[in-house]
Amino acid sequence: MSAPAKAIEAPPTVAIPSAGVAEVTAPAVPFLEIEGLRSQQFIPAAKEALTSLLAERAHGKLIRPVFNWAGRNSLFPLHWGLACCAIEFASAFGARWDAERFGVVPRSSPRQCDLLIVNGTVTWKVAHKLITLYEQMPEPKWVIAMGNCATGGGPFRTAYSVVPGVDKLVPVDVYIAGCPPRPEALLDGILKLEELIRERQE
Ligand code: SF4
Repeated sequence: MSAPAKAIEAPPTVAIPSAGVAEVTAPAVPFLEIEGLRSQQFIPAAKEALTSLLAERAHGKLIRPVFNWAGRNSLFPLHWGLACCAIEFASAFGARWDAERFGVVPRSSPRQCDLLIVNGTVTWKVAHKLITLYEQMPEPKWVIAMGNCATGGGPFRTAYSVVPGVDKLVPVDVYIAGCPPRPEALLDGILKLEELIRERQE
């Protein structure tokens, strides 16, 4: 027969001194006061968030389309000519073709321009200047390669000194073929660019 099991004794209790420990009988700040503080901070923050959200939506729905429409109908090309195509570029702004009726106004500073019309043969020697001018233009900005030289090097494509297409240096949005393209072709290219901008803005 096995021996009867011994009763397990409870461990002796250790008295924890209570001196120095404050007894919590009530919350430090009453509940209503906490709620009051919360609402004081929460309501202005919520108001501010809601106002900015509404302003953002109003900006997106009302103001942004107006800015987009104005921007694409008032392109400012850089007043810059590279070779014989530049003569056609200049003609497009003369009395006969009057490109300004489309809101296209050449400016002399790249900081005021949003359109770079590359109108001639781009040599490697001028390449870094072209890139600098492009980088000085503010966003959003667009590029038209006008004529065969700007598009792909043209008759000088195999020359050691000629860039075989300006898209090797900057992103091109519209290409205009011709050697040289006539002013009507430039106007057509500008209108196509406006259409492209409209599609991208939607
Ligand atoms: S495309 Fe023709 S007209 Fe235009 S810059 Fe070149 S060579 Fe001159």
